[in-house]
Amino acid sequence: MSTHEHHDHGHDHSHGHAHDHTTFQPDIREPSEEWEFLEIALRELLIDKGVITAREVQDQIEAWEKKSPEGGARVVAKAWTDDGFRQRLLEDGNAAVAELGFEIEALKLVALENTDDLHHMVVCTLCSCYPRPLLGVPPLWYKSREYRSRAVREPRAILAEFGTELPETTEVRVVDSTADCRYLVIPRRPDGTEGMSEAELAALVSRDSMIGTATAFAPDGEGRSG
Ligand code: FE
Repeated sequence: MSTHEHHDHGHDHSHGHAHDHTTFQPDIREPSEEWEFLEIALRELLIDKGVITAREVQDQIEAWEKKSPEGGARVVAKAWTDDGFRQRLLEDGNAAVAELGFEIEALKLVALENTDDLHHMVVCTLCSCYPRPLLGVPPLWYKSREYRSRAVREPRAILAEFGTELPETTEVRVVDSTADCRYLVIPRRPDGTEGMSEAELAALVSRDSMIGTATAFAPDGEGRSG
């Protein structure tokens, strides 16, 4: 091999060791979009140059997959029961959620409070920006072209398809996420929940209620789909 001037990996492929620069988990399907080829090329280069390891990439993926809407539900339940926290959350989302141990780096977190008069619904018209540290991986419909385009044109039709009925007097406000700003909807606290514990309240906070396509569950289980 020493005679090869243009060996592209810097080691001999013929001696049969495990290739630690290949991806730990094979890609699920063949890449087809330009950004997918770019991601693979960049990832393999960084691994090849020893900047990161395949294991580190996989650990990060697993860490993100472990995040779930239960995180956001804890934040909402705290906001429902602690007025001071609710104020701090509305003023500075990042600082408030950090109190509960959620680090949101390099992004501005904006909490939006739903009331009887005003209902917020979140979309990313451009791609799929989503408060992942608090809600986990976004649902497929959130990333779909249909949701992204219809959410701004006919939000009430979308709400109806989600089975969400709001009074005509409630204003529906659609907010568009960006690469550096993420929204968390604080759904209206359901009636009949006085005296419930924070943990009991958190169980009423669905993922969709924090995106704004739904309201929080009623304490009697109404609206809960299983
Ligand atoms: Fe996006």
